[in-house]
Amino acid sequence: MYRRLGSESAQLDPATLAVVAGRPAGAGEPLNQPPVFASAFASGEGLGYARLTNPTWEAFERALGELEHGSAVAFGSGMAAATAILDGLAVGARVVVARTSYVELRNLLAERAARGMLEMVEVDSVDTDAVIAALETADLLWLDALANPALDVAELDRILPAARRACTKSVVDSTLATPVLLCPLQLGADFVLHSATKYIGGHSDLVLGAAVARDPRAADELRRRRTATGAVPGTMETWLALRGMRTMALRLERGAQTAAVIAERLAVDDSVDRVRYPGLAADPTHATATRLLRDYGAVISFEVADAARADAICAAVEVITHATSLGGVETLIERQSRWHAEPAVPEGLLRISVGCEHPEDLWRDLDRALGAH
Ligand code: PLP
Repeated sequence: MYRRLGSESAQLDPATLAVVAGRPAGAGEPLNQPPVFASAFASGEGLGYARLTNPTWEAFERALGELEHGSAVAFGSGMAAATAILDGLAVGARVVVARTSYVELRNLLAERAARGMLEMVEVDSVDTDAVIAALETADLLWLDALANPALDVAELDRILPAARRACTKSVVDSTLATPVLLCPLQLGADFVLHSATKYIGGHSDLVLGAAVARDPRAADELRRRRTATGAVPGTMETWLALRGMRTMALRLERGAQTAAVIAERLAVDDSVDRVRYPGLAADPTHATATRLLRDYGAVISFEVADAARADAICAAVEVITHATSLGGVETLIERQSRWHAEPAVPEGLLRISVGCEHPEDLWRDLDRALGAH
């Protein structure tokens, strides 16, 4: 039994929903769902074997579902959630995906395409007309709310309704945006994907994923696939992620405020060739981001001359940590071409995930690292 928000939930700000959703209801109940460690539950009403569900997963799913205004299903990782969505496609399905979508997702699609399981059509997500044209014969569209690491923002308010008209199912990976910045289901998406490893968990101490479906029957189908394939989340991970979710809006607000300051300063630094941050007025996706997002997020990508210079910056930071991943309280920096051997990601592109430290401490550290040759 969970606290019912009923029709109220549609009016609540995500910052409020993140705090109040998914809490046990009733006198004597704990305020937070505790972690339930079990492989099986005694026979009788309700729960049975713990590969099917667990009260801790359910509290997490309840809260994320309220935030995204859909039905959430937790998985062992973001990629497990993505795989469960792709496993619902018929053999030979045509999948349209943004060229800037998360690299592992495109690798997974390419591998399935090579084995004849699906057809993969790559599009430039900011070329709205081209995306809409590709939808005509597509079974699935896969876009990102804020692409990692290109930070493009597609015109989801034009594309998602077009996908519905074309009877093409759509998925929006909203890992970098979170429900604090955007609710893709409300724009017409069929599924939202989250790597809860990032902002939802928020402390770089877990790996977890979730898919949120517009249609509760589609969520039931994902749950069935999760049970069948065993792509289940851990109890500890869902408990930690729900705990992290409570402060997600605060963390993101702080990170976005600091990211705006750092992006402005990087944009006028002579040693930086290009800054990608949708909050910058000069960014090509600024207008779309301003229309769609509640804020511009806490990730910045910027380009320096080459990989060697990028690596030197990573080696010189002291307050900022040189590490992969994003979305935690601590600021991380990484050269992205380490993972993406492709022209879409320039050699000298650095991604910073801005955390909750004081903005001036972060800037002093980065400024010093930029100057250290
Ligand atoms: N989507 C995006 C945008 C990501 O950045 C990642 C991981 O970096 C994933 C999905 C995959 O999530 P996970 O690492 O939890 O499997």
